[in-house]
Amino acid sequence: MWFDDDGWLKHDWVQRQPSPNYDTRPLGTRIDTVVVHCISLPERGRSRQFIEDLFLNRLDTSAHPSFAELQGLHVSSHFLIDRDGSVVQFVGCENRAWHAGVSSGFGRTNFNHFSVGIELLGDVYSPFEVTQIQRLKQLIVELKKSYPLRYAAAHSEIAPGRKTDPGPFFDWKGIRKSTTYELDL
Ligand SMILES: [Zn+2]
Repeated sequence: MWFDDDGWLKHDWVQRQPSPNYDTRPLGTRIDTVVVHCISLPERGRSRQFIEDLFLNRLDTSAHPSFAELQGLHVSSHFLIDRDGSVVQFVGCENRAWHAGVSSGFGRTNFNHFSVGIELLGDVYSPFEVTQIQRLKQLIVELKKSYPLRYAAAHSEIAPGRKTDPGPFFDWKGIRKSTTYELDL
């Protein structure tokens, strides 16, 4: 088993930074979906420090003018994939991370209930690193060993008009079938 009982991944490329921003999934939930995001703080930044700080509720919102709007926000994802392919896990997969927000798509709502949230460190203006995408695929393969994952969605697809990530540089090729939102891994 590559996951412990709470759904923390055990691999040497994963670091744990437990976030307080999670709660329990509805009883009997099938964790069948991956939601792909991207995040950079500040926008177009390439450091993961501020992102970790945000997910751990310790972001100094005076550190950058754009951070003012993040004051008091309580968010998290299960995973963050850094530019070099290293991974930080913030919430065990058995629990519900707070990444999707108000969400609906593909005939379903409340994606936080049944999804694993994966953030790519990056923005909607530039390509992701090849190693990041390789790691994303590897992570999904690992997750599939323990969870009945079948689907993948972009944050923009389940929060249209509100979210644009992971953006036009993210390519589903090799991750999702082209005509559906079913995984191809
Ligand atoms: Zn997002």
